[in-house]
Amino acid sequence: MTCLEHDIGAGDATIAIGNTAERMASDVPRFHTSRSSLSLTVHANRPLIDGHGRTIDHLRLSVTSACNLRCLYCRPTIRTSACRADLSDAQRVELVKHLYDHRGLRQLRLTGGEPLMHPAIIPLIESLRHAAPLLPLAMTTNALFLASMAVRLREAGIDRLNISLDAIDPSRYRALTGGRVEDAIRGIDAALAAGFPSPKLNTVVLDGINDDQIIELARWAMERALEIRFLEAMPIGPAAEFNRKHFVPARRMKAILASHFRLAPLEHCDGETAMRYVVNDGSVRGTIGIIAPISESFCGQCRRMRLTADGKLFPCLLDSRHIDLKDCWQEGIFDSDAVDRLIEQAIFGKNAHGSLHQQTGMITLGG
Ligand code: SAM
Repeated sequence: MTCLEHDIGAGDATIAIGNTAERMASDVPRFHTSRSSLSLTVHANRPLIDGHGRTIDHLRLSVTSACNLRCLYCRPTIRTSACRADLSDAQRVELVKHLYDHRGLRQLRLTGGEPLMHPAIIPLIESLRHAAPLLPLAMTTNALFLASMAVRLREAGIDRLNISLDAIDPSRYRALTGGRVEDAIRGIDAALAAGFPSPKLNTVVLDGINDDQIIELARWAMERALEIRFLEAMPIGPAAEFNRKHFVPARRMKAILASHFRLAPLEHCDGETAMRYVVNDGSVRGTIGIIAPISESFCGQCRRMRLTADGKLFPCLLDSRHIDLKDCWQEGIFDSDAVDRLIEQAIFGKNAHGSLHQQTGMITLGG
């Protein structure tokens, strides 16, 4: 198997015929893309390719900007009064279906905020799964609510989970995130019991805050056969200054790990953001990753775009420029031609490298 696990084809040319939206009266989102589309264009499956030849076929979809944690490296400062209305779930499904059928979407990751705080997350996932049956569907979560939701998430159609775990010591976890690590651990156990393939764990490493947790976290993960990835903190949004001050470069993370484990580098796969190492030291074995968006940028391999809960599309995580897709629904009717035009322009203008001029916080961008 190649590194791109699911290289699937989707969406033959179809004719989207205008029609009045047949929305269900209930709040449960259903997909109605072509029935409610204004477009009379024949859409082929045209991948989105940026001005540097990169195919942009991964979407991170933030389904809420609400979060149940207050991580120091994210520092959400969202004021409710300043929030615009979110896209509806029906609009999200409509958009994903369009990108899947016509623009070569190959991977969808639900994020937030905390996606499990979305009040209708299960029906949303069911609708996305129905709209894009073969689309690999992943979620990034802090796992605090996972214990009671893992089975339903799996049944609704989530294929894979990434779980944020920034410390294993309860008081360190609380100081860094404001939450209880016991809840996150219960969530991880529930995900495994529900039959999810081993979730990947993500740890943002901060100097003097949790860098002394690296070895304990790595051991804890390897004992459970979980892959853990240590991330450089990105200096963006309201936590930019804090993250600069506490920045730990990948080479230091590697040195800390190498002082305890023998690390054998794994071959780097296309599209893989982590540098991955195999550990096989007698009783300890497993795989550890280091993700270095700042010191060893992987922009050249970027395939991602991000959509915020309120409908802004950011072609680059590390660049404030974005477009607003909310106006692509006029009186509830989806204008797929307008979406295509706007997204093509935005993707084509994506810089070769992120500029780090990003005022929007990660709680909005989704990571
Ligand atoms: N609430 C979910 C969670 O905690 O996983 C999803 C949203 S969170 C914004 C997505 C990911 O972004 C998490 O793994 C988080 O650790 C990471 N993240 C947030 N701020 C970051 C920063 N400044 N630098 C690097 N990663 C960051």
